[in-house]
Amino acid sequence: MWGCRAVLCVWEVRLAGFLGRRLLSSNAASGKSGAGRCWKCGSPGGVESGDGLFCHHCRALQPPDQTRDYFSLMNCHRSFRVDVVKLQRRYQQLQRLVHPDFFSQKSQTEKHFSEKHSTLVNDAYKTLQSPLSRGLYLLKLQGIEIPEGTDYGTDGQFLAEIMEINEKLTDAQSEAAMEELESTVRAKQKEFTDSVNRAFEQGDFEKAKEILTKMKYFSNIEEKIKLSKNPL
Ligand SMILES: [Zn+2]
Repeated sequence: MWGCRAVLCVWEVRLAGFLGRRLLSSNAASGKSGAGRCWKCGSPGGVESGDGLFCHHCRALQPPDQTRDYFSLMNCHRSFRVDVVKLQRRYQQLQRLVHPDFFSQKSQTEKHFSEKHSTLVNDAYKTLQSPLSRGLYLLKLQGIEIPEGTDYGTDGQFLAEIMEINEKLTDAQSEAAMEELESTVRAKQKEFTDSVNRAFEQGDFEKAKEILTKMKYFSNIEEKIKLSKNPL
C-alpha cells in the first residue's frame, strides 16, 4: 500500500516535470521567445519597459502577459476600493493601443495578439468596474470561490427580505412603485458595498464572501427590474 503510494508520488513528480517542460515549450510556440525578448525581431529587453505591449525596436505588438492580473493590467492597486473614473480612462487608453481595428493591415500574428489583448482588456474592465464582480475576483486571487448555486438558506431573515422584495417586484404595477423598489435595492447594494470594503480592509475574506453571496441575490433582483423596465 505504502510502496504503491510512493510509486505514485514519483510518477506525479515526473508528470509535473513533464508538464512544466510542456508549458515552457508552449510559451515559446505562442511567441514568447524568453523574458523580455520580442517575438518578431528577437530584440532583448525592449519589451520590458512601459506596458510591455510593443517592442521598442520594431514596434511589433507583443503577446499578452498571462502572469498579469486585472488590477496590474488596469494600473489599479489590488484592493476593493477602485477609482472608476481612472479605470475607465485606462480602459480607453489600452483599447486605443490594442483594438483589432488598428491592426487590419498588420500580420496575422499581430491581429491575433490584438484580439487577445482587446478581449483581456474588456474582461478586466468589466470585472473591476462592478463591485460584485470586483469582490469575487479579489476573493478568487485569494483562492476563494463561491460556487454557482451557493444559497443563503441558513439566514432566514435574509431570505424573507429577498422574498418580500420579489413579491413587491411581481406586484409593482406603476412606474412609481418600480422606482421605489429600485431605490431600495440600490441603497441595499450601497450598504453591502461599504461592508465588503470594510471586510477586505480588515483582511476578513470569509466576511467578504458572506456579503458578496448576498449581493448576488440583489444583483439578480436588479436584473429583473431592468428587464421589466426594458422588456426584450
Ligand atoms: Zn521587435
